[in-house]
Amino acid sequence: MTERATISLKVLEGLYAVATGKLTHVNNGSCPDILEGALIRDDECLACKMLDAVDIQMREAGVALPAQVTSASV
Ligand SMILES: [Zn+2]
Repeated sequence: MTERATISLKVLEGLYAVATGKLTHVNNGSCPDILEGALIRDDECLACKMLDAVDIQMREAGVALPAQVTSASV
């Protein structure tokens, strides 16, 4: 991967917490999963808010989400 974008350390910490399972989704129906897809977010879920922050910074940097995230199949 050679593409680079600036990301705040706070957002990176949040992403790391979600990725390692330190911060888990509430899973009340609107969190990303195999049924709902990768791009859905729950406004009441802190893990989803962390992913939202990543989404925003990637969008602002003009970086597209990886194809494995945006594709319909897993
Ligand atoms: Zn969630």
